This record gives sequence, structure tokens and C-alpha cells, in this order.
Amino acid sequence: MTRYEVIIIGGGPAGLTAGLYTSRAGLKSLLVERGALGGQMMNATLVENYPGFPEGISGSELGSLMYRQAARYGLEAVTAEVTGLTQGQPYSVSTTEGNFEATAIVIAAGSEYRKLGVAGEKRLSGRGVSYCATCDGFFFRNREIAVVGGGDTAITDALELTQYARKVYVIHRRDQLRAGQLLQQRAFAHSKLKFIWSMVVEEVLGEKMVNGLKLRNVETGQQSILKVDGVFVAIGLTPNSQTFSNILELENTGHITTDERLATSTPGVFAAGDIRQNSLRQIGTAVGDGVTAAISAFNYLQETRKSS
Ligand SMILES: Cc1cc2nc3c(=O)[nH]c(=O)nc-3n(C[C@H](O)[C@H](O)[C@H](O)COP(=O)(O)OP(=O)(O)OC[C@H]3O[C@@H](n4cnc5c(N)ncnc54)[C@H](O)[C@@H]3O)c2cc1C
Repeated sequence: MTRYEVIIIGGGPAGLTAGLYTSRAGLKSLLVERGALGGQMMNATLVENYPGFPEGISGSELGSLMYRQAARYGLEAVTAEVTGLTQGQPYSVSTTEGNFEATAIVIAAGSEYRKLGVAGEKRLSGRGVSYCATCDGFFFRNREIAVVGGGDTAITDALELTQYARKVYVIHRRDQLRAGQLLQQRAFAHSKLKFIWSMVVEEVLGEKMVNGLKLRNVETGQQSILKVDGVFVAIGLTPNSQTFSNILELENTGHITTDERLATSTPGVFAAGDIRQNSLRQIGTAVGDGVTAAISAFNYLQETRKSS
């Protein structure tokens, strides 16, 4: 079985940055990614808020540049899904391409936005369907858009989007919000927000770009069309943490609990990026986490060497 000093799980910006730092520090490092290197960035047509690219850059190009930079310092990468992590020293990482061992682990497996699961959503993703207000709000200046959801994230997103959009509809399947009272007060007082209660989205409409939503009233069953240029889906996130729940402490949201050095409840295991508690879910914050987790892993390995 091949033995590494560090194994990084997930090849998004957090994992690629961790890999750059660990391999550049001379640690034998392996990155395991089940899909395309770049992670969620691969779905971002244009990233305009990551510093260093004044004209913006496509997420896939940014991912490929990050990988090239890490590979230059010797980061090895394998395409495989991690299916288990066994506690012990070394840690054993089981994957669909075999098992690997390492003294330290960085988990950077990200999270997935919950989808509406309706017709048109996938086809128009990045063409008016978005899951990230901070990332894409700017593209909807002076437009009419909708936010789907009724929790804290949906209302925070809706308020943030009022900076750009002319009008923001909040579509919620219930007749009251789940968001905190303060957020609700701010939302109800905002002149650009309009609430559509007891409605679900049945279809996202549009040929090349979103131009409307087909809605259904959950009480009467009556259908209607809402004309909008974009829809932000804010119905929750699922962190990709279940594989690690046997050995790590998780928050009740499923995010991995970490301290300020991004150490988890298990010594030698660190978590970075969207998968950890309180992440701001941006490329910049994932990159910062990758740096912190890599340096913490490096320090852990130094300590382990000293004590053995
Ligand atoms: C459409 C879209 C547009 C966005 N635009 C912007 C933007 O403009 N600016 C911005 O700052 N942010 C943007 N974001 C958010 C940003 O992409 C994320 O915050 C960031 O990618 C999180 O990085 P991460 O490394 O933590 O996780 P991810 O990017 O999610 O990467 C995690 C990786 O881990 C892999 N993985 C998961 N489980 C396993 C497993 N068991 N085995 C192996 N691999 C596994 C996944 O395949 C994935 O590639 C956007 C997101 C989306 C979806």
C-alpha cells in the first residue's frame, strides 16, 4: 500500500491549495478527487471576485491553473471516490481505486447545493439559475429575479440581491418564513422584496436564458407563470461529510467541526473549505482554508516526528 505524509480529499480550491502548500513544503502528498479537478468552480462561468484577475476568469481555467501550480511542486492526484477513512496511525483511506495510507489527512470534500429537481433547472444552470447570491448577484443588475426558500440563507440572499436587482420575489412553499425574526423584519420592510407564499416551482422556463418560472400553489393546485430573468435556489446545502462521520465530530448541519487551525476532533485530520462549519462558501475563503489546513498538517507531522 502506498504511504503518503498527507492525503487531501477533494480537488476544489481548498484541496488544490492545501496540495500546493504541502507538496511545496516537501511533504509526499496525494490528492484524491472523484470528479473534475477544480470542484464547484468548474460550474462558474465567470469568476469576478477572486483577486488577481481584473477581467475575471472562468472557474474551469482557474481550477486548471491551481492544479498546474500544485503539480509543479510534486502533488500527485488520483481520480477516485473516497469511500472510507479508518482511524489509526497511519490513517487508511479507502477509495474506488484502492487503499492509501497517510499520517495526516486534509478533508476538502466541499458541499452540494440542494436542487429543486424540476424541469429546466439543470439545463439553465449558469444561465439564470444560480445557487450563490454573492457569486452571481452582480450579473442581475436592474433585473427582476426570484429567490426560492424561506430560511436564513434565502432571506439573507434576497436582501443581498436587492443591491443589484430591480425587484426580488421570495417564493416559499409555506405561508410563513423559517428565517430569524430580525431578518424577517428587515425583509418585510424592504420595498424591493415581494413575497409569494405557499407556492412551489414546477419548472424553470426559458430557451437559452431563464425568462420565467412555472409555479403551483400547494393549497389550491393552481398554476401560474412568474416572469423573471433569474432564480436563486436557497433551499439548503448538503456537506459531503457522511463518509467521515464515523470518526469525526459533525455539526447538526453535517458540517465538520473545526478549531481555528482547522483541526477536527480527530488528531491529524484537518478540514478546509465549504465542508467545515461557518465557511463563507467562496473561492477566496476556501483557498485561505487550504493554506491554514496545510500548515496545520505540516506542524502536526513535525510534532509526530519529534515524539516518535
Ligand atoms: C455555479 C457556481 C458558481 C460559483 N461562483 C463563485 C464565484 O464567482 N466566486 C466565488 O468566490 N465562489 C463561487 N462559487 C462557490 C465556490 O465555487 C465554492 O465556495 C468553492 O468551490 C468551495 O471550495 P471547496 O474546495 O471547499 O469545495 P468544492 O469546490 O466543492 O470541491 C470539493 C471537491 O471534493 C470532491 N469530493 C467530494 N466528496 C468526495 C469523495 N468522497 N471522494 C473524492 N472526492 C470528493 C468533489 O467532487 C469536489 O470536486 C460558485 C459555486 C457554484 C456552484
